[in-house]
Amino acid sequence: MNLANRVMALSPSTTLAITAKAKALKEQGEDVIGLGAGEPDFNTPQHIIEAAVQSMNEGYTKYTPSAGLPALKKSIIEKLIRDQGITYQPNEIIVANGAKHALYTLFQVLLNEGDEVIIPTPYWVSYPEQVKLAGGKPIYIEGLEANQFKITPEQLLNSITKKTKAVIINSPSNPTGVLYTAEELFELGKICLDENILIVSDEIYEKLIYGEHKHISIAQLSPELKDQTIIINGVSKSHSMTGWRIGYAAGNKEIIEAMTNLASHSTSNPTTTAQYAALAAYNGPQEPVEVMRQAFEKRLEIIYEKLVAIPGFTCVKPQGAFYLYPNVKKAAELTGYNNVDDFVEALLVEAKVAVVPGSGFGTPENIRLSYATSLDQLEKAVSRIHQFIELKC
Ligand code: PLP
Repeated sequence: MNLANRVMALSPSTTLAITAKAKALKEQGEDVIGLGAGEPDFNTPQHIIEAAVQSMNEGYTKYTPSAGLPALKKSIIEKLIRDQGITYQPNEIIVANGAKHALYTLFQVLLNEGDEVIIPTPYWVSYPEQVKLAGGKPIYIEGLEANQFKITPEQLLNSITKKTKAVIINSPSNPTGVLYTAEELFELGKICLDENILIVSDEIYEKLIYGEHKHISIAQLSPELKDQTIIINGVSKSHSMTGWRIGYAAGNKEIIEAMTNLASHSTSNPTTTAQYAALAAYNGPQEPVEVMRQAFEKRLEIIYEKLVAIPGFTCVKPQGAFYLYPNVKKAAELTGYNNVDDFVEALLVEAKVAVVPGSGFGTPENIRLSYATSLDQLEKAVSRIHQFIELKC
């Protein structure tokens, strides 16, 4: 069967590939520790599960409007007022099947063939593929490790052409966990306003911030920046609801209307039960979110120190999300591997630890480790990596 060109050009997800390999080894009886996970290891808080069950028992099992339940949109508007201090109207919000689907729909309605979208590296694996699927062209800007993987206004300005339609900002970032400050966002935002470039602000890790750091949305910095930005967010990471598939986009009403039109012909609506669950997530107690955040922070503090003590590892300290993104080029060299991809393969087969190679995120000298697993497993995994390197050196 000849498949469509657009699908043939898709790159397979490196995250899923490593997870599949680790699973195969586990099935053969190997004691593999997986640090590839992109989701919190906690169950969804009980009150959310109960609200979903209750909605089904009460008969709310039918279609909803394509842009989402009005009550859920209201709770998202209230959340945006509460957390970002910005007010949206209901026609400026669309609920989607996860933040991933909100992004997918956005690029579909935004891009014409050849339109450019600026993507800072390292990037979340789906951005380039989604842009390409919409006929767009990803333009990469290298977030330098010396600048905590953040792009500078000069870099942004130098990457803009007549075809530039949007820039993606993911703060805190997957895979680096790094956050942009308000000042940095303001400077980038000024350029986007001058050049009329849409800002796609992926804030899915907003609630997982550590130490003294604060999450700032570029949209909250001025009314003009709010108009220039589409916020992408959802309940997957904040409320440990990855499987429920609820995310949203907030911004310009023409864009949201086009996204709603597209959704009406593709998904009809996000699953009704999951929308009721998300409603409980936003309207109910937020303590479970804080409990999970604290657990992640504790793990980060312990594991970061152990990780940077490994020979050949250096790591920008994350300020949010649940990933560590060390540069391991030296460790690969010390242990006799030509590249980090081979080193990652050896870590899996010999040290029995699954991590994701940075090549999938656009920076081949790094690896991504997720700390969305128990402290016990994390300590064991990091000590296996340490021993593996010491034995090989
Ligand atoms: N954006 C980033 C940066 C992510 O890491 C993820 C999930 O891994 C998503 C979006 C998608 O989240 P959702 O589960 O809401 O589709």
